[in-house]
Amino acid sequence: MRKNTKRLLAGVLTGLALTGCSAAPPQASKQAYLSFLGTRDDADCILLRSGASSVMIDTGEAVDSDHMLAWLEEQNVTRLDCLILTHPDKDHIGGVPALLEQVEVAQALQPDYRGENERNDQMQQLLREKGVPTMRVQTELELEYGELSVRVLPPQKETYKGENNYSLAAVVTHGQVEMVFTGDAQKKRTKELLEQQLPSGADLLKLPHHGRANSQSAALIQHTQPQIAVVTASEAEEEVAQALAEAGAEVYYSRGEDLYFVSDGSSLTLTEQKPLEAQSDQAA
Ligand SMILES: [Zn+2]
Repeated sequence: MRKNTKRLLAGVLTGLALTGCSAAPPQASKQAYLSFLGTRDDADCILLRSGASSVMIDTGEAVDSDHMLAWLEEQNVTRLDCLILTHPDKDHIGGVPALLEQVEVAQALQPDYRGENERNDQMQQLLREKGVPTMRVQTELELEYGELSVRVLPPQKETYKGENNYSLAAVVTHGQVEMVFTGDAQKKRTKELLEQQLPSGADLLKLPHHGRANSQSAALIQHTQPQIAVVTASEAEEEVAQALAEAGAEVYYSRGEDLYFVSDGSSLTLTEQKPLEAQSDQAA
C-alpha cells in the first residue's frame, strides 16, 4: 500500500473506529524479510521470512544451486514451510534437487501442469522420493505463515501453449505491506491476473517473465502502481521500463546481485544494495 493510500485509509479507519465499527487494519508486530537470490542468468529464487516461518518462491537454475544453499545458510534457513514452484521451467525449478538435499520442505505448491516435460517429471519423482507433500493448486488458496498472509493465485485455464502461462502467482501481505509475485506470466496469464484482484498500490511487484514486455505489461504496472519493482534479469524491456518510470517505481535487478528488503508492516525498504557483479559473457 502506498503512503497516500495508507494515510487516507488510516483516516477512514479512525472514522470507522469513532463510529463504533470494529474494522481494524491488519497489524504486524515484528519485521518480515524478503530476499531475491542474485542469479547467474535470468531466473527466480525468492525468500520470505516472518518469525520462524519461511516461504520460498522458485529455486533458480541448477547453476545457481551452490549460491542458493550458501544464501539460505547465511539466513539460517534449514526448513521451508512452503515452497511455491510457479511453473516447470529450468530457471524456476532447476535448484530443486540441491535444495531438497539440504533443506526440509514441509509443503510444495505447483500449478496443475500436465504437459510433457522431462525435467518436471524428474522433479515430481524427486519430491515423492523425499516425501515432500505437494499440492497442484486449482483454486485460490489463503495461507498464513508467521505474520505473512499468502494468497496463491492459480492459472484459470487447464491448458496453455507455453509453460510460462501456467505460472502460479502470489500476493503476500505483511501488515499493510502488499507484495505481488507473478512468475513468468505472459499475455494470457497477465490478463487473468488483472481479473484476480491484485492490489492497486502495491509496495512491491516482482515483474513477470524477467521484465519482458507483452500487451498486458503496462496495464499490470498501471494497476499495481508498485512503489518497488524487482526485475529478475539485468534489465527490463523498454515498454516495461517506461511503464515503471511512469508509475514512479524504484526498480531493482536481481541478476548477479542478491537483494534484501525489510518490512515493518507499514512499509518495505531495501536494506542492502551490493554493486551489480560484472556480467560474464560466458553466462549461459
Ligand atoms: Zn523464467
